[in-house]
Amino acid sequence: MIIFCFIGIRMEGQMGLGKTDLAFLEAVKDAGIVEAIKPELIDEPDGLVLITCGDCDHFPNLYNWLCKMYTTRIHLLVLNGGGLLLPSESRVNGLCEDAVLIQHAKAAMEMKGIRSAIFSAHYPCGAAAERGLNLQNVCRYIALGKKRLKRSIRSLKKVYSCLHIDYGDDKQKTYGVHTKEMAIFVRLYKTALSVL
Ligand SMILES: [Zn+2]
Repeated sequence: MIIFCFIGIRMEGQMGLGKTDLAFLEAVKDAGIVEAIKPELIDEPDGLVLITCGDCDHFPNLYNWLCKMYTTRIHLLVLNGGGLLLPSESRVNGLCEDAVLIQHAKAAMEMKGIRSAIFSAHYPCGAAAERGLNLQNVCRYIALGKKRLKRSIRSLKKVYSCLHIDYGDDKQKTYGVHTKEMAIFVRLYKTALSVL
């Protein structure tokens, strides 16, 4: 048992961006589907509900990035996988976490008078790796997650979708994701690869 745990930790540490992931990331960046969020675009004086993965090696980078851009009010909802738990078909979701997150986001908005949300998925993510998700799958879930959140909480004014990437060598970066375009891109990319 101890040996298995040790191997698990080693594998987690060795997770990284493979060639396929990097090629996909470059393609969505080139297409402008994944890009830096300009601080002035976040105009939310009432605050934001943040749904994210609590990975201790990545969460601080994401949170510091957000605080640098936006320091007013951030209400945290943190579970392993974060935004990947939101789609109803998510393979990461095993305990109805989608319903739990949506319910808590609604409650937080009502309690704190917040009208907008920001959610993120990160890559590599242990929860995603455990379910065999690659970067394309993660980006597809981000697109589905936004749709689910907006459909489930009608009072939401705006939802910001983010992708946090750990490039290794202490380089981590958070991007905004255009989810409608991402949903189409993932579908076309998959088809393009299948005919090669
Ligand atoms: Zn994670």
